[in-house]
Amino acid sequence: MSGKLYIVATPIGNLEDITIRALNILKSVDLIAAEDTRQTLKLLNHFEISKPLISYHRHNEDVKSEILLEKLNEGQDIALVSDAGTPGICDPGEVVIKKAIESNITVVPIPGACAMINALIASGISTSEFIFLGFLPLNKKNRKQKLEEIKNSNKTIILYEAPHKMKNTLEDLKDIIGDRRITLARELTKIHEEFIRDNINNILDKIDSLKGEMILIIEGKSSENNSQNELNELTLEEHYEYYKKQGFDKKEIIKKIAKDRNVNKNEIYMKFIN
Ligand code: SAM
Repeated sequence: MSGKLYIVATPIGNLEDITIRALNILKSVDLIAAEDTRQTLKLLNHFEISKPLISYHRHNEDVKSEILLEKLNEGQDIALVSDAGTPGICDPGEVVIKKAIESNITVVPIPGACAMINALIASGISTSEFIFLGFLPLNKKNRKQKLEEIKNSNKTIILYEAPHKMKNTLEDLKDIIGDRRITLARELTKIHEEFIRDNINNILDKIDSLKGEMILIIEGKSSENNSQNELNELTLEEHYEYYKKQGFDKKEIIKKIAKDRNVNKNEIYMKFIN
């Protein structure tokens, strides 16, 4: 019988952010495939776990996934981990996971820390609908395309960025999407964890003094940027849903609809009370 492939999330800073199940899986598997074996060894040593390690990173995914597949087919259980957080989320994993599924091997996710979800939930920006874009492309044309996508999205956008590229990214965002509200989440789960909830211009003023790992949560395009006609073509219920998805409460929504439709807010209120 073939073994199982466990995708194990590990901490993104604070070592206490690992689940009991994750530790049990790491203790029980035959082999741990790690993005950087030295990094994972530190984690294993901390929890007094001793296991054979094999490297599995971006530049050897094709070759190493074949080796992992052979071992899984021989019946070995393997845990896949990255340096921090959830494997496969801007981290290696996708190739071996796809191949394992194609070979009918059981793939088991072991939930845990993921930087983008934690940045999003504490951002104060709407969590009802969001798009995760990972790192912006470096290629000029592709980058411009993504920035345009951000500009036109009504949904919250989540971006990862390397610390030394953050200033440049904020400048590009400002140039293309204008001065939108964002939350910069920094050093999540670590001693200097910080959320800066402000507009792009003000965050750009501070960026030179900010250190550590960072994520951007960008508010979706607001109603002011939508044409009035588009909104007024919606049914009242759709209009309501439109603002609800942006995180507004009932009172605010009624006020906004009344303003958009140029009617008294009591008129809208009466429609939703029935
Ligand atoms: N797989 C990881 C996850 O589950 O979130 C993401 C890995 S990706 C290579 C690294 C990027 O994630 C960083 O550049 C940063 O944008 C974000 N990140 C990771 N850990 C973070 C932390 N503790 N605080 C803020 N951002 C973090």
